[in-house]
Amino acid sequence: MDDGSGIPDVVVVGAGPAGCGAAVQCARLGLNVKIVDRTGTPGGLVREARLLENYPGLPKNVPGAIFSEFLSDFLENNGLRPARIEVERISREEDYFTVTWSGGSMKARTLVIAVGTRPVGYSPENAEGVTIHRSILPLLEKPPPGVAVIGGGESALDYALNLSDRGSKVVLLVRGSSFRAGGLLAERVLSRPGISVLFETTLSGATPTRNGTVKIRLDSGGVAFYIDVHAVLAAVGRRPIFPETDFRVFRRPGNVETSVPGFFICGDASLGSLGQASIAAGQGVLAGTEASRFIRRGKSWK
Ligand SMILES: Cc1cc2nc3c(=O)[nH]c(=O)nc-3n(C[C@H](O)[C@H](O)[C@H](O)COP(=O)(O)OP(=O)(O)OC[C@H]3O[C@@H](n4cnc5c(N)ncnc54)[C@H](O)[C@@H]3O)c2cc1C
Repeated sequence: MDDGSGIPDVVVVGAGPAGCGAAVQCARLGLNVKIVDRTGTPGGLVREARLLENYPGLPKNVPGAIFSEFLSDFLENNGLRPARIEVERISREEDYFTVTWSGGSMKARTLVIAVGTRPVGYSPENAEGVTIHRSILPLLEKPPPGVAVIGGGESALDYALNLSDRGSKVVLLVRGSSFRAGGLLAERVLSRPGISVLFETTLSGATPTRNGTVKIRLDSGGVAFYIDVHAVLAAVGRRPIFPETDFRVFRRPGNVETSVPGFFICGDASLGSLGQASIAAGQGVLAGTEASRFIRRGKSWK
């Protein structure tokens, strides 16, 4: 819709499954929509997934990287492409929002926030000078021969299988006595010859060696021992991102609407933790629908 002001009806922040779902829904409902992402490319976290096996309607299971290309086509087929922008601040004026980034700012009549999650802080003691990877992507370019993966949830198990598929020997370090993830993923990890699982084991130190490996110190039941690996990858939890705003926002996890009219949130950022791509996409469609209702009703916060 064009009200002559040149201000887009909707700006969607984040081009993962949730943001793509929201942006396309807005476009289909006839809104003037812009989508931005700090990477400039669609996909979001799903790019890290080994294989998407539970997204309804896919004719076959596809790696997350391929699914990201589908999302890119999905946007392009609807005349959309994410601008490479990392939103830093959001402010609220009379009857529009302003999103600001290091290089500029943009106004919007409504906002859909679909910024996903970030890894929780993790910095083991006695590991100075050692890179603890928090994303699998840099390791996929040249899979290291030996990798320690830390964590017992779905992401850690997915990472372990992904690296093992590519020939890495994986040691999976799990703090508890069982995985947090269950089902097929756990069965596959436990039956994979290239993956050793160490339960009730924590990493308590890491030192780079002269030959380019990392000597990691592991503690299990009060006993310490050392192994050499080529990389350490931690998947120990994620928490939702919420952008900085100059106004107060109240929201309930899982709800796309917030206490601020015209300000919507969807996907993992709304759910409060790592979710599923299909749930995120569905929530994005819902957020887009609500944004359209808001615009059409001419609702105002004045
Ligand atoms: C290893 C792994 C395996 C997985 N496997 C599956 C699976 O098999 N099936 C499944 O359904 N799900 C899976 N998931 C979960 C799935 O990837 C997420 O639930 C989904 O990507 C969430 O979508 P989202 O759009 O809410 O957030 P995200 O995908 O996290 O997208 C958020 C986007 O926002 C952008 N962004 C963040 N901050 C800003 C900012 N300030 N300004 C601009 N842009 C910003 C990011 O760059 C990103 O592109 C897996 C996840 C992982 C890590």
